[in-house]
Formats: sequence, structure tokens, C-alpha cells
Amino acid sequence: MVSFGAIKYVKMEILKSSAALIAWRNQYQSSAIGFVPTMGALHLGHLSLMIKSKIDNDKTLASIFVNPTQFNDPKDFLHYPSTIESDISMLEDAGIDAVFIPAVEDMYPEVAVENFHIPILTESLEAKMRPGHFDGVITIIRKLFDLAQANRVYLGEKDFQQLSIISAWVKKEKRAEVIVPCPTHRESSGLAMSSRNQRLQEKQLKEATLLFQILNTVKENKFNNTPVEWELWARSLFAQSPSFRLDYFEIIDADTFGPLAAWEDSENPIAVVAAFLGEVRLIDNMRL
Ligand code: AMP
Repeated sequence: MVSFGAIKYVKMEILKSSAALIAWRNQYQSSAIGFVPTMGALHLGHLSLMIKSKIDNDKTLASIFVNPTQFNDPKDFLHYPSTIESDISMLEDAGIDAVFIPAVEDMYPEVAVENFHIPILTESLEAKMRPGHFDGVITIIRKLFDLAQANRVYLGEKDFQQLSIISAWVKKEKRAEVIVPCPTHRESSGLAMSSRNQRLQEKQLKEATLLFQILNTVKENKFNNTPVEWELWARSLFAQSPSFRLDYFEIIDADTFGPLAAWEDSENPIAVVAAFLGEVRLIDNMRL
């Protein structure tokens, strides 16, 4: 511990192996631990999760690991941004207690990937567009959760289907972690913050706001059209924008992920969108 007058500054622990994480965790058996798993290239969206965890818990643990088994597209994995030095400074400045940055061989001594299936939830949207993605997510989440033994885990609503699937898995496996959903942090333009935004050119950063603009228009004028009419409208806007290649735009029930014919069909509607802008795949969503 370094002491500057009255201010006590505890240095962040950088844990580079499972063994180091287990040893760190053993020191704090009776503390409330908050855990924020990430793939790095940190931005203010990630930071908002960390800050929430710091408020709720005695100790906050972050992880940075670009998980190879959740990338269905090798090019996406290859180009995934990495800014490890500035990530570490950001976490240190935020007063995070420890960050786990394991090697691939440590997390994957074997290559087996789990299979987790819940009808519709693991069959639709991201699951359909990115085969195997969520099996990779659950595989790494189990490994990280087993090591971290956290009381609370902070996940972003930005990745809404991921949040739903991890929550369903925690429930099904009767795990002890409480999942804390955190709202999407946006740029002033409305663009949802994402590590992948670092790959966008200046012109594309402006174009990328189309996702937010469409979602927001639907939210603000919801009852002017049926969900299906809004879907057709949104898809036609993407079709008219040559920079984009739309994967999906759907209005669904946030609990069942089933489609909506009418607004009365759901108490919890949400619009979800995924689209390529050039080579970069963007996702976003908004509760309606
Ligand atoms: P990632 O590093 O992209 O895997 O994200 C790590 C965690 O941060 C996940 O739970 C994400 O949902 C969350 N996250 C990513 N972007 C945002 C954002 N703009 N606002 C809030 N949470 C986010």
C-alpha cells in the first residue's frame, strides 16, 4: 500500500494465471466480490460496469481475455482491437482491485467447447448469425466464474442476448452468482460504445448512428405502427443505405425472444439490430 498523506492508494493486482487468481481470491474469503468479465479495448461502457461493481462490493475483479472459442469468424478474431497498456491504466485509475489477464493455454488446456441449449434463446438472432458463438461464451464464462467465485457479476444490456443466455445458464445450473444487468453507455451521437468502434473511420462513426436513430424513432413513435410494420420500415432504411449489410432487425419479447404480431402480445418488447458497416459488425437494442 502506498500512502499519500491521508489518501491510501492500493495498487491493482495484475493476475496473469489461474493460480494467481485463486491465490488472490483466497485472501478475500469473507469479502463481497464483484466481477466484470471483458475482452479488453476498454471504453466508458466497460467502466460504467466497473463503477457499479465498486459501489456494490468490497472488491472488484475485472478480466481481459479475448476468447477464441466465441469467434465464428477468424477475421473478426484477428482484427479484434487490443489496447492492453491503456486498459490497465484505465482500471488502475478507476481503483479496480485486480485484473485477470490469462494466456489462452491457461484457459484452454483442452479445446472442448460446451453445448448449452435453450429453445429460441440459443437458436435465434446472434445464435443464428454466429453459429457456435454462445457455446464459446458459456464455455469461457464457466471457467471464469469457477475461478472468480464472485458474489455479483456485471454484464451489459448492450449484448442483450448474451446477458439473457448467461442469466438463464446461471439459473439452470443453480449457481450462486447474482447477475447485475447494466444499461448501455452511448456516445453523445447515440452510438452504443463498443470496442469494435475503434475500427471505424471518421465517416463510418457518423454513419453508425443509423442504428440508434432507427431504434429511437421506433421507441418514440411506437404506437404509430405495428411491430411488423416497424420491422419492414427499419429493414427498408438499411436496404437504402449501401454502406450497411443488415443481419437482422427484429422486435421481440425480451423474456421469450418470440416475435410480436401486435404490441399487446408483450409487456416487455425490445428492438434488436445487427448490421455490418464495412467489415465491422455492430449490434444494438432498445426496450420499447
Ligand atoms: P466485451 O469486452 O465487449 O466482451 O464487453 C464486456 C462487458 O461490457 C459485457 O458485459 C458487455 O455487454 C459490456 N458492454 C460492452 N459495451 C457496453 C456499453 N456500451 N455499455 C454498457 N456495457 C457494455
